[in-house]
Amino acid sequence: MVFSKDVSHVLLSSGKLIDGILKAGNIATSSFNLSTWGSSAPAFPSAVRIYEVGPRDGLQNEATFVNTDVKVQLIDMLSTVGLKSIEATSFVSPKWVPQLADAADVMASIKKVPEVTYSVLTPNLKGFQGAVQAGAREVAIFASASESFSQRNINCTISESLKRFEEVAKAAQDNGVTMRGYVSCVVGCPIQGPVAPEEAAKVAKVLLDMGCYEVSMGDTIGVGTPLTIARMFEASMRHIPVSKLAAHMHDTYGQGLANILASLQLGISVVDSSVAGLGGCPYAKGATGNVATEDVVYMLEGMGIQHGIDMRKLVGAGEFITKALGRKTNSRAAAAILAKNRFTQVPTQ
Ligand SMILES: [Zn+2]
Repeated sequence: MVFSKDVSHVLLSSGKLIDGILKAGNIATSSFNLSTWGSSAPAFPSAVRIYEVGPRDGLQNEATFVNTDVKVQLIDMLSTVGLKSIEATSFVSPKWVPQLADAADVMASIKKVPEVTYSVLTPNLKGFQGAVQAGAREVAIFASASESFSQRNINCTISESLKRFEEVAKAAQDNGVTMRGYVSCVVGCPIQGPVAPEEAAKVAKVLLDMGCYEVSMGDTIGVGTPLTIARMFEASMRHIPVSKLAAHMHDTYGQGLANILASLQLGISVVDSSVAGLGGCPYAKGATGNVATEDVVYMLEGMGIQHGIDMRKLVGAGEFITKALGRKTNSRAAAAILAKNRFTQVPTQ
């Protein structure tokens, strides 16, 4: 199997129809009744929480540097769409991730909506302290499921990397800061190839035991397909309650949405995604953008799974950031809705 050579993803990465979809796209559709799935209906969750990672995981992998005021405006727009969780930025060394060197300014400038949790990625205690000083009440820590990726990416073994987070975990507990965990390369790694499901599950369990309220399983290079993703989650669910697992799928090989569907079938009810599919330039070889939030919302809506997102506002946020980046959206749903809007506009003359 050929894997992407792109290792730039430094994870160091009511059944009531929302009017927005119908009005924005004028789409003749109806909510799918899950009971019609068949006698072997999978255990789809009735509601899914979307964890928006565009401002961090997305923008850190964009080739273009995005000005602080644009980042702030994007997060402020996303704060109004119904999301409960937004990963805002990352307190890492600017040497590693120059795109997010303005983390403190971003955190200071966003209009924090009480219903929204703004999370910050922190690689160490220094990052944690910076994040808390900037007002973060949730941080994310991470480790790789692949030994070779860990050594190549952050120059230490998986167990060393986990050890480093013990002091962050203690500080988080002392400060009443919630902590989320990420496991990267859960099914495949650009160096060693396939990753065994149990390897990903083991790392996830350590993060959970360290105090993470939830662990997000990341197909960082997007090489997974529905069955490899399902096996990885089945292995994880032997150690961790399904309610504490999230799916984080990159769309590099066009499998993101299929992999999310496989995750939902197992009862996973938290999905990470990125507005406009941010992350990974469409012109760059090995682009590794997250699955687009708009596409996930469209799928959930069609399946009658609650998501709480205003699609019209979400598409607006995606349009804003793609214009700022000077490129097209990576969301098929957003592109379709925007095209339909343009097509159905009444001519003025
Ligand atoms: Zn990611």
